[in-house]
Amino acid sequence: MRVLVGGGTGFVGRALTQLLRSRGHDVTLISRHPGKGRTTWDEVSRLGLPPCEGVVNLAGENVLNPLRRWNESFRQEVVASRIETTNTLAKAIAGAERPPSAWILVTGVGYYRPSPTTEYTEESPGGDFDFFSRLVTRWEAAAKIPGDATRQVVVRSGVVLGREGGAVAQMLWPFRLGLGGPIASGRQPFPWIHVADLVGILAHALEREDVRGILNGVAPSAATTTNGDFARAMGSALQRPAFLPLPSFAVSAIFGPERSVMLLEGQRVVPKQTLESNYRFAFPDLPSALQNILT
Ligand code: NDP
Repeated sequence: MRVLVGGGTGFVGRALTQLLRSRGHDVTLISRHPGKGRTTWDEVSRLGLPPCEGVVNLAGENVLNPLRRWNESFRQEVVASRIETTNTLAKAIAGAERPPSAWILVTGVGYYRPSPTTEYTEESPGGDFDFFSRLVTRWEAAAKIPGDATRQVVVRSGVVLGREGGAVAQMLWPFRLGLGGPIASGRQPFPWIHVADLVGILAHALEREDVRGILNGVAPSAATTTNGDFARAMGSALQRPAFLPLPSFAVSAIFGPERSVMLLEGQRVVPKQTLESNYRFAFPDLPSALQNILT
């Protein structure tokens, strides 16, 4: 299958490209920057969709970049990098002479309202209570295309864990130095997924003709994992103490109050449709996922 991957140069995209190529697929990346094996967003807008059977969008400005202040211009970049790229692909797919058979978007579990008790499946309500939940609603709406020539799948991802980027790469050094620990009380839910499983779900959704609709991209045990469990599992995989909590005022000072919700609160998310679609997780529990990533 020829697969076009928007934002495929990033953390998830690199893992997806490797997996798809290992399964015999042909991958072209869409990037802001031209290069070998790539096309650009501008080319897709001007010339339409290159010939392909599958399309995935992973593009998005990194929300938790600690070096960027959470102000109006950064907020707009976070929104535009997701909605405009998704819009470009949805329009190109809808206008294609030979539409692809599958179109897959990765969004986030920020769709569901943070709560220490409520469990969310793909059918649960959400998407209407804060900046991030409304962003997911707009992002998923931008992906909608008319007709049923192309199968549409949305994967709502939790925190992606992997060696090459994301949360683990950001936290590795404090933990290695024995300065790691839970964020605030550590009791907030920690919806996580191993990057190998997120890209596994994406490949499954591309290849399986019966997969459509929303899939939660979290591990089966994520609904019962807290941030404190994550800190303990990191410490144990690295054989380092992990007791030093990061106080909530420090998180708010670095990320700003709106963005720090992502770290100070969390959702208990269940991958109900994902399991019912017969996806088999390689890393269903956190200790084995972190052992794989860190050792
Ligand atoms: P990355 O931060 O690695 O970025 C993915 C790609 O997005 C980049 O390689 C870049 O491609 C493109 N991009 C960045 N900024 C912009 C911009 N301003 N305009 C257009 N394109 C831009 O993301 P991940 O791989 O970690 O995540 C992939 C997707 O999954 C994202 O949409 C993210 O929101 C979502 N997600 C990720 C989670 C995680 O824990 N990592 C959790 C939940 C959802 P280039 O420079 O080539 O243009």
